[in-house]
Amino acid sequence: MEPNVAAAKEALSHLEIETSDSAIRANSRDFFWYSPVLKDRLDHVTADFVVRPKSEAEVIEILKTCYAHDCPVTTRGAGTGNYGQAMPLAGGCVMHLRHLDKVKEIHAGRVITEPGVLLKDLDAACKEHSGQEIRMFSSTWATATIGGFIAGGSGGVGSCTWGSLRDLGNIIRLRVVTMEEEPRVLEFRGEELARVSHAYGTNGIITEIEMPLAPAYDWTEMFVAFDEFTSAMAFAEELANHDGILIKLANVFEAPIAHAYFQRVKPHVEAGTHLVGLMVAPHSLDGFLTFLGRRPEATVIYRSDDNDWARGPGPVFEYGWNHTTLRALKVDPSITYLQVRYGFPNHRDLVERMRTEFSPEVLQHLEVLKEGGKVIFAGLSLVKFTTEDRLDEIIRIHEEAGAMIFNPHRYTLEEGGRQTVDDRQLAFKREADPKGLLNPGKMIAWDDPDWSYQSMYAYPKLQAAE
Ligand code: FAD
Repeated sequence: MEPNVAAAKEALSHLEIETSDSAIRANSRDFFWYSPVLKDRLDHVTADFVVRPKSEAEVIEILKTCYAHDCPVTTRGAGTGNYGQAMPLAGGCVMHLRHLDKVKEIHAGRVITEPGVLLKDLDAACKEHSGQEIRMFSSTWATATIGGFIAGGSGGVGSCTWGSLRDLGNIIRLRVVTMEEEPRVLEFRGEELARVSHAYGTNGIITEIEMPLAPAYDWTEMFVAFDEFTSAMAFAEELANHDGILIKLANVFEAPIAHAYFQRVKPHVEAGTHLVGLMVAPHSLDGFLTFLGRRPEATVIYRSDDNDWARGPGPVFEYGWNHTTLRALKVDPSITYLQVRYGFPNHRDLVERMRTEFSPEVLQHLEVLKEGGKVIFAGLSLVKFTTEDRLDEIIRIHEEAGAMIFNPHRYTLEEGGRQTVDDRQLAFKREADPKGLLNPGKMIAWDDPDWSYQSMYAYPKLQAAE
């Protein structure tokens, strides 16, 4: 199967096609460079052309045409993903969905939208129309799309209350287009949602999304300072365990993260300050302040509704999730990160063990997450990178201790996930993408079913660096 990219491009020339080399290169990249491992391997990757459909009908036409010419198609929301998710490893077509940006219907408790809508615009539409908001969003709320969040993300701001995207009820329905000789349009609910959510667009393109909503609030954002890391961690968890206090964010930053990397916070903390970031619903402030009154070790240093900082910090959620890594990288380019799951009931012990083992080479950044009704921690630990071997060793020690790693230094679904084949996604790919043209190189089970996961997978058709 030899791709005829030129023929595909020519056949699609009546659509909006990007022709400038610099724009094609920019549209072929995401935030893969957070990982020094991926930066070395993927920096040269570029699509042959970029096309921007304006409707589902144009998406179908692009997939049908590229199928006929064996041309790979990698879908792009806004390209804020890590892991090289949106990078066209084998070249071909990048299909950029920025024009699929209509919020179609808003009802009590749910919204129906196209995938290319920015999370912030979706929230604004829901708030304006009905006083509602999306339950959770990636901290890239201002720049990322809802389609990219579902196909590439996992959870974020709101997950301390609502859990992760993959938890039942957090996505209602997805409409999906297949890449076959005659593309089909399918509607998925319930068990079927797992086929395409967090599948990096490897087995179908999401063209319509139905998501649940919650009442919108003007959240009070805060920073709370502690002298002891253990107290900060306990505070965040215990607050999240108070069922009557509604929060949208609770995260923990080990010292000296706040002092070293949060420029606008720095004047208000010491190098030894451990910080907790919070979003609290206004009607829960009384409950929160009562909780705070029982914690003399906690000092509120910033409140968005009573700000006396000369230079405000901006949204507190833009210090959390993967924005923490971004802020650290801007100050110290040798920083990278890990994604860790500290599961119930040993989560606090595990965090302490990893801290004892690695701090300050690895600094703890924890996000409070609800999982199966329990509060746990997602770790997006900051790692001072030295060598790939040392990074692998740090990962191995975490795994041996029982802390699951979602390795952000790998570009495949399996290695960035639970290191196992997702049979539902693989089975659907066989049906929906029989030529294997959708975001090739991202699903090991498709390319090499016998892969052992002993070492990093290297996609054989990865573009060669020039
Ligand atoms: P893209 O990067 O464009 O795409 C992501 C993946 O989805 C790609 O594989 C792409 O091919 C596929 N895709 C996109 N649209 C479709 C579609 N319609 N159909 C099928 N496949 C599609 N992630 C989180 O989960 N939570 C966070 O809090 C978070 N914080 C982040 C902070 C920073 C600073 C950065 C850089 C990243 C963060 N991420 C986070 C990762 C990323 O931003 C999110 O996953 C984001 O929502 C992706 O949206 P996007 O529009 O940029 O998608």
